[in-house]
Amino acid sequence: MSSRVDHRAAEMQTGLFDLSFLYGLKNGPKRDVIDFCMKMDLIAKEYVCPACNEKMELSECSTLEDGFIWCCRKYGQNAHHIKRSVRKGSWFECSHLSMPEVLIFTYLFVKKTSNEWIVDELIVSELTVLDWKSFCREVCIDMIIRGSKKLGGVGHVVEIDESKFGKRKYHKGKRVELKWVFGGIERGSKESFFCVVEDRTAETLIEITKKYVEPGTTVLSDCWKSYRPLTEEGYVHYTVNHSVNFKDPITGVHTNGIEGTWSAIKAQFRSQGTKKVKDEFDSYLGEYMWRRLYGGATLKGLFPCFLRGITVLYKPQTRDSPK
Ligand SMILES: [Zn+2]
Repeated sequence: MSSRVDHRAAEMQTGLFDLSFLYGLKNGPKRDVIDFCMKMDLIAKEYVCPACNEKMELSECSTLEDGFIWCCRKYGQNAHHIKRSVRKGSWFECSHLSMPEVLIFTYLFVKKTSNEWIVDELIVSELTVLDWKSFCREVCIDMIIRGSKKLGGVGHVVEIDESKFGKRKYHKGKRVELKWVFGGIERGSKESFFCVVEDRTAETLIEITKKYVEPGTTVLSDCWKSYRPLTEEGYVHYTVNHSVNFKDPITGVHTNGIEGTWSAIKAQFRSQGTKKVKDEFDSYLGEYMWRRLYGGATLKGLFPCFLRGITVLYKPQTRDSPK
């Protein structure tokens, strides 16, 4: 596909998108913004006129923030003068920010910038930042779902565990909602799964394990009784008794990987403000999984990777949606 080649070329050209490139777009000619966004498939390269079915023209319009608009003007029979925003169906639709500002915001999300810093940098309200971060997390989740495969397989090791999130603060007379999260990580890979569970019964935990972990996988867990049916479900199951050791002295079985992961997730949630996390718990878990899967060594390429994710979830429209 030529668009993929174009992507690569555009990514190379811009030196992997540092902030200075994006600020260059913000302060430069609007045509450059349009060209860049088209090249990256962030906005449509053409738009079909709903009245005459011909391709509309991209017209300059200095009173518009974007500087350009799709336009079709016909005289005589079937006379019409129709305009459409270049943002239709795109990541930028419905935003009052300029397209470079949205890109800068997106970059700052990928780079885990604090809300306060973004408020200050883009001169927007905190509510705007929270909304956009929430949209970004939807992109993360979409990318995970599309890219997901089951963990493990014969000869592979997956550590599973449950962890309690949230605290009860009786002394303040408030009951904070507690959530159990069940999750697993595959050793030697970046694959993981995490989900909020209503209870920790065998029925619940085994069903989720079967959904995310290949049969035949070596599964390591603590001695929680709900894990007992794993063997009959076709897993090679080992346990470590946490009330005695954190590493079984005989088998060497430990679940340090998943234990460490809980600490990392909780630290990330704390840094984002637990109050905010509470309402969109699943989506924050999604963001964590995305960063785990795509981040790490390739942090530099993370922003282009995220932009590609955006173009899948937000397919720019090339014509009006059917009524
Ligand atoms: Zn037309």
